[in-house]
Amino acid sequence: MASQICKLDQVLRRAFARCKTTLIMGPPGGGKGTISKKLIKDFHFHHVSAGDLLRHQVRVGTPHGIQARTYMESGTLVPDDLVLEMFMNEVSKLTSSRVLLDGFPRTSVQATALDKECHVDIAINLSLPNEEIVRRISSRWIHSPSGRTYAYDYNPPKVEGQDDVTGEPLVQRDDDKPEAVRARLQEYDKQTRPLLDFYKAKGCLHEFDGTGFPDLVAKDRRSDAIYLSLKPFMEASLAT
Ligand code: ADP
Repeated sequence: MASQICKLDQVLRRAFARCKTTLIMGPPGGGKGTISKKLIKDFHFHHVSAGDLLRHQVRVGTPHGIQARTYMESGTLVPDDLVLEMFMNEVSKLTSSRVLLDGFPRTSVQATALDKECHVDIAINLSLPNEEIVRRISSRWIHSPSGRTYAYDYNPPKVEGQDDVTGEPLVQRDDDKPEAVRARLQEYDKQTRPLLDFYKAKGCLHEFDGTGFPDLVAKDRRSDAIYLSLKPFMEASLAT
């Protein structure tokens, strides 16, 4: 583990040397994926999503994927050494001057490894109450081959249970099932929420919750509501 972190330091140092680094944080199901897509489109970030990287490893069936799968299906965090190694491989490919880290770091070990060599410029936290998270996650269904995602309450498929493009069946991710959602929230509270204080103390934490936009929230367009205030904030922050 120690040598893993040491190797990570060297890779991070090179990769992040000229990068402006933004973290997107928040509870599972809090909209990190949706908001990240908007940020990538508008600000041309190199996006590194720990969850996407792990799911790719699982799909391809790599040794990392085989090891990670059980943790992910039960809603617990994948061990730090595996995540750090995977993350290191990915950031060594960084080419953009702006990087958006999504779902990393999620533990104090990961945050410490990142902090050693990389200056985090902006940490965005998307906050959301737990009951809202459970409701949202359990309404999420996906088309596995393409990754297309539907939400029954605001982005439903044209035909219930079927992908709009292929007509193939939709499935629920194992980690979106209620018992796994509860486990993910517990893990979040125990391991990840404390990192907010870490970034707050560094003066780079910015919270967005969308509660200032009740009309939009009522229509369940919370991500749009948040983005109305997040976008100008990012424009100002990245301009400096
Ligand atoms: P969500 O934010 O909805 O939990 P993600 O796609 O970010 O979804 O993550 C899915 C799963 O992948 C997590 O429940 C966890 O098992 C694993 N995972 C993602 N990021 C990390 C990380 N940084 N460290 C450990 N495990 C992770």
